[in-house]
Amino acid sequence: MFSPDETIELNIAIIGGGSAGMALATKLNGSPATVFEPSTAAERDCSWALWANESQLKKLSTSVQGSWDQWRIIDHNHEVVHQSDHYCYTALSAEKYLNHCETNLKAPINLVRASVENLVAKSGGGQFEAGGQHYRAKTIYDSRPPKLEDNSLCQHFIGWEIILAEPIENADIATLMDFRVDQSRGLHFIYVLPYSDRHLLVESTMISTHIEDKDWYRSAISGWLAERNMQVQSKVREEFGVISMATVAPHNSEINHIGAAGGAVRLSSGYAFSTIQTQMSALAASITVGSPHLPKAFSKRLIFMDKVFNRALKAQPDQGVSFFMATARALDADQFSHFMLGNAGVIEWLKVIYAIPKRPFIKAALKQCFSHD
Ligand SMILES: Cc1cc2nc3c(=O)[nH]c(=O)nc-3n(C[C@H](O)[C@H](O)[C@H](O)COP(=O)(O)OP(=O)(O)OC[C@H]3O[C@@H](n4cnc5c(N)ncnc54)[C@H](O)[C@@H]3O)c2cc1C
Repeated sequence: MFSPDETIELNIAIIGGGSAGMALATKLNGSPATVFEPSTAAERDCSWALWANESQLKKLSTSVQGSWDQWRIIDHNHEVVHQSDHYCYTALSAEKYLNHCETNLKAPINLVRASVENLVAKSGGGQFEAGGQHYRAKTIYDSRPPKLEDNSLCQHFIGWEIILAEPIENADIATLMDFRVDQSRGLHFIYVLPYSDRHLLVESTMISTHIEDKDWYRSAISGWLAERNMQVQSKVREEFGVISMATVAPHNSEINHIGAAGGAVRLSSGYAFSTIQTQMSALAASITVGSPHLPKAFSKRLIFMDKVFNRALKAQPDQGVSFFMATARALDADQFSHFMLGNAGVIEWLKVIYAIPKRPFIKAALKQCFSHD
């Protein structure tokens, strides 16, 4: 235990200054808080994407890397192109977003560039060490990434930000899923964000229970580029990610967890950014009025439906392409955006349920009803 005279007393400690920690810190209005984050924004750069409406686009404008009102999903037989008047598929630079948040933090919010260690949590708060200093906080919000469960379904990927030797056509369409790649090891697709006609993010993404060797994703990207005669002039950066598509277990049940650690990643898609923004706005508002309340990231119904989807995908990965293609074909652009954002209404759900293959989902739904998960 730490002796009190060596301990810095805090009102709110936010562990981790990533997407959730920074969103909460920047939305707090006058409540004293300290964010603990060991890495710089540049060290954590990657692409964070969401479906943004006009007002979100304006708010996030300093971090936007690219924005498309058209997106597509392709397999060997079909190409579904969506065009929206209300949403843009928007890619943010995590580095720019985090830098913007950090430079706009104002007292009484502080940032400590250090890792939190030896946390002893109790009744929502606790004691810990960071940067050789002892702290005690009345309330802790912990966003340290959750541990991945063995053999659980994950979305795993490598992305290359590249400059091409020659410009491409159709640089105004984002390719969310191009399934015309090796499907032998799980559901696999190429994701392409054209920031310009020569500047692209190209990712090889797998949804499966087994993380591949990094060279496997790299050769999938190279193969996809080569088939289209796209020559890489230079590689700007590479990103690697693993996103759990299973329910995460909190590090410590004595404190609140936010972000991915708090279950804010949509289980069927891996998207989290948009949900985190909404959830952190609500949390910050409740802290400001003195009655902190962490709202649920998703409704019970949505979590159930996503678990059914993942169960069906895990049982029949070879059907994955038809699940996604059927969903994209059943919905128009705005409905698809609502669906991906987790805001789909009854009509949108009915359209999806009508379109997808029934047997695997009925089986998965029955199993989900009788499971303890
Ligand atoms: C490469 C990648 C790309 C993604 N792309 C998308 C996307 O396009 N759209 C989308 O919606 N979601 C995306 N996701 C999902 C993603 O998990 C979330 O969008 C988002 O980053 C989750 O926010 P978070 O705050 O929970 O986690 P993070 O943003 O990862 O923040 C957690 C922070 O905790 C810090 N930390 C770790 N250990 C300690 C410690 N001991 N003490 C203090 N701090 C610590 C880390 O440095 C990190 O900054 C992506 C995830 C990855 C990994």
